[in-house]
Amino acid sequence: MSASPKPAGPTLSSALREKYEPVIGLEVHVQLLTQTKIFCGCSTQFGAPPNTNVCPVCLGLPGALPVLNKRAVEFAVLASQALNCQVRETSIFARKNYFYPDLPKGYQISQFDKPLAERGYIEIAQAAGGSKKIGITRLHMEEDAGKSIHDGLADSSVYTSIDLNRSGTPLVEIVSEPDMRSADEAFEYLTLLKEIILYTGVSDCNMEEGSLRCDANVSVRPRGQEKFGTKAEIKNVNSFRFIRDAIEYEIDRQIEALEAGERIQQETRLYNPQEGRTYSMRSKEQAHDYRYFPEPDLLPLVVDARMQETIRKTLPELPEARRKRMIADYGITEYDARVLTVTKSLADQFEEAAKAAKNPKRVANLVQSELMGRLKAKGVEIDQSPVSMKGVAMSADLVESGAISSKILKDLYDKAFAAGEDFPAVYEREKPQQITDVTALEKIIDEIIAANPKQVEQYREGKTTIIGFFVGQVMKASKGQAKPELVNELLRKRLGR
Ligand code: ADP
Ligand code: ZN
Ligand code: MG
Repeated sequence: MSASPKPAGPTLSSALREKYEPVIGLEVHVQLLTQTKIFCGCSTQFGAPPNTNVCPVCLGLPGALPVLNKRAVEFAVLASQALNCQVRETSIFARKNYFYPDLPKGYQISQFDKPLAERGYIEIAQAAGGSKKIGITRLHMEEDAGKSIHDGLADSSVYTSIDLNRSGTPLVEIVSEPDMRSADEAFEYLTLLKEIILYTGVSDCNMEEGSLRCDANVSVRPRGQEKFGTKAEIKNVNSFRFIRDAIEYEIDRQIEALEAGERIQQETRLYNPQEGRTYSMRSKEQAHDYRYFPEPDLLPLVVDARMQETIRKTLPELPEARRKRMIADYGITEYDARVLTVTKSLADQFEEAAKAAKNPKRVANLVQSELMGRLKAKGVEIDQSPVSMKGVAMSADLVESGAISSKILKDLYDKAFAAGEDFPAVYEREKPQQITDVTALEKIIDEIIAANPKQVEQYREGKTTIIGFFVGQVMKASKGQAKPELVNELLRKRLGR
């Protein structure tokens, strides 16, 4: 992650910020992970040579007819269900007309007044505790446009080039209600939205490759006023952090304008991350009139109750529910649960490891104490960790049984990260020489018994669980190099007397 420049715009006093309430609604485009496009059989593969994944349909040649991709519909329905939306039995595709070089037909096939799904929500956590539902107005299906390439090519000074590989890629657009009241809430909404979509597996949500794109609508109103202020729409911001910064900037800009007695223009703005500010792109007067009308080349889309049920059965446990269950099942904290569920695959791995380990909470602790810092230093995400969850579980068991000390554990993690190897391999190679010499161990044990008469008494009075205390002491005294089973056996003999 690169450092985010401080918003260059006005820095308002907190009193002034308090005077106004921001209102934010987000429009998110998510590319569906189908093999082929939404209305033709062309591949959706990213990064293919320009204009190689094209056919008469996605080139918009006259007479070519669209055929709806069933998989895209299934994915869109699954996403709708994951976002608590109601799926319409019959939805209608519509033509959204506008002229742009990367839109070969002169219209985009989208959905308008009868979208696939409506009235959903995402529940976001609030800073003050508790949660808040952010409404989802609608989720509709549409096709993507192509890509204009303005620079980087030999003749870029003379021409704009068009790559139509992306033309006809299946998208869903998810429109939120204007329910967010701060840039942080918008950030939280996007984070959860992405997490949920990733869990369903219908998109990779890769922002760099354009599989997730977000437009932010921002307005402010005097606190206490019911009527919304005039909004500005910020388009094409390419990271969640930039979206947060852009919204912050825009809130301040609008407050400052209102305080100066100006009126907010309804307009589309662009965010410049280098400068940390937004610029006007086009005003409402220049806004498109899309002249929507029903697409005559496609039948109404019918997703009946049976199909909805079949798809619902494939809905995985979603992140929030999973966190709650993991907290209950493994005795881990809310924070642990958050870290361990950032991706579904990580959560799956953790659960597998936690089930195999003696103490799941220790597995979670080691992820925090041994993995996270080292991953950060290495600059990699947890699902690219050299030490797998299985490895973490093994290390947890070794510490749990006293076979290695936490100092040796740290050392083994250092070695694993330096070599890019998993824990079991490093442990096998580096495992501490164990003291198996009975006489040497007995000497240590006798010293510890002599030093802890109270505990010895307790043991002899029947509190045999206190043996764990003695094992720990011996392991400590032997710097983790005693063999735990042997220590146990010798201790029982000595204490039994
Ligand atoms: P438009 O007709 O300009 O496309 P919509 O009503 O369709 O506007 O809303 C588009 C997005 O803008 C939605 O996410 C919605 O929640 C949000 N939105 C609408 N009005 C406001 C407002 N006054 N302030 C902030 N966001 C708004
Ligand atoms: Zn095609
Ligand atoms: Mg709209």
